[in-house]
Amino acid sequence: MALKNKYLIDLLETVKKRNQGEPEFIQAVTEVIETLEPVIEKRPDLVEAGVLDRLVEPERQIVFRVPWVDDNGKVQVNRGFRVQFNSAIGPYKGGIRLHPSVYIGIIKFLGFEQVFKNSLTTLPMGGGKGGSDFDPKGKSDGEVMRFCQSFMTELCKHIGADTDVPAGDIGTGAREIGYMFGQYKRLRNEFTGVLTGKGLTYGGSLARTEATGYGLCYFTDEMLKANGKSFEGKTVVISGSGNVAIYATEKATALGAKVVALSDSNGYIYDPDGIDLACVKQLKEVERKRIKEYVATHPNATYTEGCKGIWTIKCDIALPCATQNEIDGESAAILVKNGCWCVSEGANMPSTPEAINTYLANGILYGPAKAANAGGVATSGLEMSQNSERLSWTFEEVDAKLHGIMVSIFKACESAAKEYGMEGNYMAGANIAGFLKVAEAMKAQGCV
Ligand code: NDP
Repeated sequence: MALKNKYLIDLLETVKKRNQGEPEFIQAVTEVIETLEPVIEKRPDLVEAGVLDRLVEPERQIVFRVPWVDDNGKVQVNRGFRVQFNSAIGPYKGGIRLHPSVYIGIIKFLGFEQVFKNSLTTLPMGGGKGGSDFDPKGKSDGEVMRFCQSFMTELCKHIGADTDVPAGDIGTGAREIGYMFGQYKRLRNEFTGVLTGKGLTYGGSLARTEATGYGLCYFTDEMLKANGKSFEGKTVVISGSGNVAIYATEKATALGAKVVALSDSNGYIYDPDGIDLACVKQLKEVERKRIKEYVATHPNATYTEGCKGIWTIKCDIALPCATQNEIDGESAAILVKNGCWCVSEGANMPSTPEAINTYLANGILYGPAKAANAGGVATSGLEMSQNSERLSWTFEEVDAKLHGIMVSIFKACESAAKEYGMEGNYMAGANIAGFLKVAEAMKAQGCV
């Protein structure tokens, strides 16, 4: 989409100059700015208040050394990050990613997206994100614990239940959150809801583990219904085999679909009989093994090296749940050619701009990540509420609230897109609806 508004063109130029070497961040900002053009044309007051100029610059970026000792007694050093992006509508909130590809540009793109996503949930949460280039894969429990303790030793100076509340993301699951929470409590001598995604015995919420995957399916189901369709009897391809992918598979199957493929960063499995989720959970959640092990016990299934090929499998609905930019223009074209008519995003920014253009040009029902995967952070918000009132809600209570939030997110995207003349473009709707709440709050609070 080519921008016409001079203010936005100049703003994007400034962002590009100021954030050189951070292509993912520039990609995320470009997408949002392009879809906000009709809002900016209508709202000169927001330009006057410098809302967008401030919104594209994080409030605070913290970069720190994380030294730890491996099992051989050798000192290892990683780099830690926390980007506190925007606190206009609540304390900073967003996960911690542990993956070797992490650098400041990844954390900034994720933090930026989180601002809009958290706004869409209707809960009072600002946006932030953190992480490290530490790779938990192949490390012993002891090594992971020593890394997490060192990471939290610095991070604890910058977070708090009313300041900034981190959670999980790629590479950060229940084990890592447990070690981080233990260290925070020990250093600060306080038991508060400073992290979400905690274990159920120490303040975690039921349904948080399932929330992102379930929420993705609730959002997608609502989008399908609004367009006269459903999951029932459809073939679904899901990438990844981590937290989001596993629970998206569970809910899509419960809604009547057949999930035929999953992947990890080495390759993908295809099972024409439908994925046996109990086996995947055992392999990934309990044994921490690779997805290729699945075929050893499922003779009809095949394993193929390389993850991109998963998008060549024929399907009705594709749910990318692994990582950023995993569907490029070429893969999107193959999906369309094979008859796929819906793409809904569990991962953050899994589609390149070329892929998104392909979806929109071909009338694909497209559920953008900011809206479609907001169920995780929404349920983290519910975990914060439970921690504050020192109560635990039942699984059914949390799940019902999650469902209600995902339906309302879809409706917000649908009506914002319509109001600004882009009916059916839920990406534009998500960006506009998420932006407006934050923008009004920023304007009301003055130039801070
Ligand atoms: P997990 O670490 O549980 O799983 C990640 C999965 O994606 C693994 O199968 C992993 O394979 C695969 N993967 C990771 N990096 C790559 C890569 N570079 N190329 C190919 N595959 C890759 O993470 P989550 O399931 O929690 O997160 C998945 C996505 O969902 C991320 O984009 C995350 O930001 C997003 N998300 C997560 C939320 C949550 O609540 N957890 C909330 C909202 C969004 P391997 O094991 O080989 O690395």
